[in-house]
Amino acid sequence: MDCVFCKIIRNEIPSEKVYEDEDFIVIKDIKPVAPIHLLIIYKKHVEKIHELSEDDQRRFWKIFYIIKELSDKLGFKEYRIVQNNGKNAGQEVPHIHFHVISGRKFGGIG
Ligand code: 5GP
Ligand code: ZN
Repeated sequence: MDCVFCKIIRNEIPSEKVYEDEDFIVIKDIKPVAPIHLLIIYKKHVEKIHELSEDDQRRFWKIFYIIKELSDKLGFKEYRIVQNNGKNAGQEVPHIHFHVISGRKFGGIG
């Protein structure tokens, strides 16, 4: 599969991992837009949120657990979560991921 995040998950491309479990990995974004810029990546190749199966959906409670873990470990308490679905929404890598960005002030979401 020619997907950059699948390659990262399979360790075929190096990345700075900060968390890993059976369903998700968290890596540092290669082009950070803030002092902290992490990507929570689902290990299964699914492109968009509405394409998740019910089994996938049941695994996504862990997103909230992971955000708390990262907040505690890295010490950030103010942060933005960004999640893009499709090119028009700004999605460059068609494999579900959540951006966690922190460490500076952000404006509106437009
Ligand atoms: P999207 O626009 O799809 O929501 O976000 C994709 C993100 O993945 C971008 O912020 C981009 O910098 C990041 N990215 C793309 N390729 C790589 C890579 O090879 N390694 C890492 N760590 N991040 C990547
Ligand atoms: Zn993929």
